[in-house]
Order: sequence, then C-alpha cells, then structure tokens
Amino acid sequence: MQASRARLLKEYKEVQREKVADPDIQLVCDDSNIFKWTALVKGPSETPFEGGVFQLAFSVPEQYPLQPPQVRFLTKIFHPNVHFKTGEICLDILKNAWSPAWTLQSVCRAIIALMAHPEPDSPLNCDSAENARIRKELPLSTCGHQIVFLFSSFDKSISKFCKFDMCILIVHLPNGKDVLNPLAKYCFKPWGDHLPFTFKFVERNLRIADITIGFLKNGQEGMDEGKEAFAYPPTDGRVFFNADLNWSFGATPGAYDFLTVGLHELGHALGLAHSSVKGAVMWPYTGMNETRVLQDDDVHGIEALYGVK
Ligand SMILES: [Zn+2]
Repeated sequence: MQASRARLLKEYKEVQREKVADPDIQLVCDDSNIFKWTALVKGPSETPFEGGVFQLAFSVPEQYPLQPPQVRFLTKIFHPNVHFKTGEICLDILKNAWSPAWTLQSVCRAIIALMAHPEPDSPLNCDSAENARIRKELPLSTCGHQIVFLFSSFDKSISKFCKFDMCILIVHLPNGKDVLNPLAKYCFKPWGDHLPFTFKFVERNLRIADITIGFLKNGQEGMDEGKEAFAYPPTDGRVFFNADLNWSFGATPGAYDFLTVGLHELGHALGLAHSSVKGAVMWPYTGMNETRVLQDDDVHGIEALYGVK
C-alpha cells in the first residue's frame, strides 16, 4: 500500500512536469483518492478518432506497480480492441505483458498508439478480435458494397444525412403489391427508432425525396447479375432491388425476404457500411429463405453515425 502510494505520488509529480511536454494527454488524479485517475486523450491524427477527445478512467490496485492499473474508456468509442459497452481495453501491457516500468502516462501513450493501430489479432479474449478474424475470411459481399475494416458497421468516410426530417418516395411497386406499409413498419421504423429525424413518406414529387426505392432489371444501371440489391450512401439515397429475383415478405424457400434485404440496403442508404458481426443486419450476406432484425452492432453503428437518440 505504502509502496504504491509512494510510486503514485512520484508519478503525480512527473505528470505535473510533463503536462506541457505532452499536449495529447491530460492526466488528473482524483482529489480525495490517489488510486483513482482520469485522463483526457486526443484522438490521433489521420484516424477516425482525429479531432475527438476521449476520457479514460484508471483504477489503480494496491499492488501497483507490480500489477497493472485497470483502464477503460468512459467515452464511447468504436475500436476493435475496445468493448463498446464497458469501454474495456484489450491491450497486452494492461494484462500479461505488464511491467512495473510502465506509468499511467506511458499507458495513455500506448492507448493512443492502439487507437491509431488496432490489433485485430490480439490474443486477448475480445468479441471484436474474434470479429476481426472472421472479417479476414470474408469473400466479396452479395450486395457489391465494400467491407469495412472496423468492427462495427461504422465508417467515418461515409457521409450522412444532416436534417431533422426526411422524405421517402416509393418509385415503383413490384407486381402491384403494397410494399409501402411493410417497408415503413419493418425497415424504416427499426432504423428510425435510433435516428434523430423522422421519416415522412411522399408518393409524388421526386425532387424532395431523400431516399428512393426502386427496382432494376439485370444489366440496368449497375444491377449486375447475382446482386440482390444495392444502395447509394447519403446524400444520394437511392435503393434498388433486383427485379429479376423472387421476392417475398418473410422467409420463404426459393425467395429473398424483401424486408430483410430492405433493412440492409436502407442501412447503406443512411450511411452505414458492412458489419463483420455475423447475424447483424449489416453483415454482408443474405441468402434466400432468411430473415433478420437489427442487432446491437447495427444499433451501435447507426448511433455512432447519428448520435445516440
Ligand atoms: Zn450491403
């Protein structure tokens, strides 16, 4: 206890000196408890985290520095080595590769380095590391969109809609079926529940529609044979289904579920890229006779893009 306290006091003095030296890290000790620290670290440049400031919480054990501090992100962050919900960090130096030579300040630096260089093959038991391994084995997707290299369906390079209201237009109804109501209920509402704006359906006046839904035959305007559907990201917002495929509402042998594929393509139209989480709506493969609903990863993706509702 005394040793850890003396060591932390020493680090505290060093931190005061280093404050100016390292503008990316602001490490602060709790006023009443030297075993509790917080840090503000700047997101490294040329990464999805650039421009962001991330808060870390340190809990230092009494056996410190023989044992590593527990560190987690308090700021929500999408990173293969950080648990989205708990903020737990998968970093070897915080586990079995810890050495008493590390300090809280140098741990912060290591975390900044990890933000810039994720370790998808981290041997630590992390869901996202498992996802990263799966991701490596992915062939091309069935809908022609690229696969993103972050664990969530979140890609900072993709634009988003910036508005409070949004209009949808159904361009063409397949075989005269009423797709509007099922689309509204099973595709737009699930995403809409996590969006800061609401969808409004318009049946005429193409110009004001932000998202349009239509059908293309094989060979028309980018509808390659074998593609089920595709969508253009914001602010284009066009979604096309392959008119030559057999569509159904719900799982039906020999047919694709219009609503599952619609949910996926609408995700793209809203700005999401593919997820590496199998079973997520944004997982890049949909087969016949298959239905899906939004999973945690999809929700995390849309919330990362548009903010938590
Ligand atoms: Zn896709």
